[in-house]
Amino acid sequence: MARASNLGFARLGLQREWKKASEAYWLNKSDALRAELREELEGVARELVERHLRLQLEAGIELVPVNDFAYYDHVLETAYLLGAVPPRFERAGESEIDTVFAMARGRQDAPAMEMTKWFDTNYHYIVPELSGETRFSLRSERPFQALALAQRLGIQAARPVLLGPVSFLLLSKSVEQGFDHFSLLPPLLEVYAQVLERFAGLGADWVQLDEPYLLHDLEPAQAQLFAQAYARLQASSARPKLLIATYFGGIAHNLELALSLGEGLHLDLVRSPEQLDAILDADDGARVLSLGLVDGRNIWRNDLDASLSVARHAARRLGGSERLWLSPSCSLLHAPIDLDAEQKLDPELRAWLAFGKQKLREVTALTTALQQGEEATWTASVREAFAASRDARVSRGSSPRVHDPAVRARVESIDAGMRARPESFAERSKAQRERLALPLLPTTTIGSFPQTKELRRLRSELKKGKLSEEAYEQAIREEIASAIRAQEELGLDVLVHGEFERNDMVEYFGERLSGYAFTQNGWVQSYGSRAVKPPIIFGDVSRPVELSVSWARYAQSCSERPVKGMLTGPVTMLQWSFVRDDQPREKTCEQLALAIRDEVVELEAAAISVIQIDEPAFREGLPLRQGDWADYLRWAVASFRLASSGVRAQTQIHSHMCYSEFNSIFDAIAALDADVLSIEASRSRMELLDAFEDFAYPNDIGPGVYDIHSPRIPSVEEMEELLVAALRHVPVERLWVNPDCGLKTRGWEEVRSALSNMVEAARRVRSTQAQGSNPE
Ligand code: GLN
Ligand code: ZN
Repeated sequence: MARASNLGFARLGLQREWKKASEAYWLNKSDALRAELREELEGVARELVERHLRLQLEAGIELVPVNDFAYYDHVLETAYLLGAVPPRFERAGESEIDTVFAMARGRQDAPAMEMTKWFDTNYHYIVPELSGETRFSLRSERPFQALALAQRLGIQAARPVLLGPVSFLLLSKSVEQGFDHFSLLPPLLEVYAQVLERFAGLGADWVQLDEPYLLHDLEPAQAQLFAQAYARLQASSARPKLLIATYFGGIAHNLELALSLGEGLHLDLVRSPEQLDAILDADDGARVLSLGLVDGRNIWRNDLDASLSVARHAARRLGGSERLWLSPSCSLLHAPIDLDAEQKLDPELRAWLAFGKQKLREVTALTTALQQGEEATWTASVREAFAASRDARVSRGSSPRVHDPAVRARVESIDAGMRARPESFAERSKAQRERLALPLLPTTTIGSFPQTKELRRLRSELKKGKLSEEAYEQAIREEIASAIRAQEELGLDVLVHGEFERNDMVEYFGERLSGYAFTQNGWVQSYGSRAVKPPIIFGDVSRPVELSVSWARYAQSCSERPVKGMLTGPVTMLQWSFVRDDQPREKTCEQLALAIRDEVVELEAAAISVIQIDEPAFREGLPLRQGDWADYLRWAVASFRLASSGVRAQTQIHSHMCYSEFNSIFDAIAALDADVLSIEASRSRMELLDAFEDFAYPNDIGPGVYDIHSPRIPSVEEMEELLVAALRHVPVERLWVNPDCGLKTRGWEEVRSALSNMVEAARRVRSTQAQGSNPE
């Protein structure tokens, strides 16, 4: 009989309990309290894990994943498990959790490890560092404790989850010049084999090895890694059966390889329904197939009839459902936890949605329906689940709040002229130079300044109606004025208003656009303790009111220096929202671009001379397979240009992106044609600029010199060095000086010191440049 399964669950908790607990723990400075607080924190972790296990059981899931919790990030903690802790973090006698946090967040004497995006999600993982010195060994007991905990709760079929060895290696980086970290595969496998053996000893029938890398177009050497790795693991003397989990796309192009790896294979049939038949064709009667039918990456209610017919089709082809597991498409790490916790969504919209818990119930309903056979024999609960799914489909398809003819008509009327600025970059740059009169190596920040407790309190009081709209606005204005004063005192050249009015860079704008809805508890982890609450785009998008103009106007009135207008770009608005699944993403993105374009034009009319359109999510939107890139980049670039091209030459458009590997999409980033691009670079020590050897970025650029993800304050010398490194690739007239990203997660004190160092670093480099170019 088919079985109901899951691949993983959210970690932070419905109320972000883990965020609150771990952040409070980080604030503790007292050695005396450390051990006690740590125990408390570990207790919070256990409680959350237990609660989520129960939730899965109650939703009817039989095959429950364990060891999917992480203190900070599962890739980081896999590195820890395997003993791959970089030497700079080793401290005798330190606890696991403290070392894990240090690796993720850095210490004053040890810069944090690099962080980057997990496939095409907005989840960020920490990149393991490997070198010739790496000696793998089993370093943690946590996976085994996790399994034991589930068993204590009476979960028979608990299935430990691990990041698979090959994806682990492919997601890691070598930190030693010339060292090939793939040569570490054999010793790595010995530790994996040991872990498998331990799991077997504890009674696990199955282990889930996540190998999302199988989605990629593998080079022969990479395919070879898979073959070698799994040949070794299969040869282990005692081991559980292996479920190879793939998600975020199809694996039909690596079919033979994927089928050879384990006793079970999980397929993401939401992203790639077409792969199923290829896999069924290749069935040899031995393998378990786990069908990912319920979307783990989005919040729409499943079309249960459609999913059931896929499951039935698979069962027919396999000659029965004994070897079928039904499941969400990927880990529910990427979905909010519980729709029942939403009190404010109206009933119509709510009926269209399913969060983590509801998705698991969908999986259970599907599994039960498959087991029970013909509809006439279904039990009441299955019938109800299917009826609700049918109703949602009908009402969403015909609801007038989804379809706005005016928006449709405007999208139809977009022409090529709207997607390009009439002047060349050279012409614009000249006009902007005259207007802005900035020094060489202008200094700026990325937008946000620290979001203090006081600010959050104001916002929550406003929400609760305890604070009037006017009093709130007045308080924000005071924050803006004081941030502007602080920036003038620091000596920054292009100022920002600080984004104090924004809870979140996507939510803030979405709340003012139509076609958007918001949740109260729809949190999704983005990195470490941090979560975002992606808004839901359910209908055609338009801009009934201005989004940021009055704040920008006020901020500019506080200073003679230029203050940047700050907007979130269309691709990021799309990427960081839950999007409609009833029209192509490209269409939704165009609608967003038109709304932002109107805002850009209105900012210009309000005498804002510099406008930044952030696209931190531009790269993460890239499809995982290279063959699909061109199409994405075409519409993503077109949308950004549609949003940004409505202004005159002397209005300077900035964009910002926060990741350092954009080598492969350089052309597209240049094609955005922003006058100034700020980009993350400090953690990778300006490595990104190596790409400039082959491709000279044509416009102004500010590679970040201050790693804002770490509480560490960079010194003047350090940033000066980074600037000098940047000058090897970027002509001095086109180089800007800025942090890697916004500063909202930092404290004012550290921000002041770091920015003061940054401005000083710019001054020093400026003065050597002036001497260099003017020898007398
Ligand atoms: N302007 C935004 C900020 O400074 C950009 C954030 C981001 O790139 N993620 O907060
Ligand atoms: Zn950023």
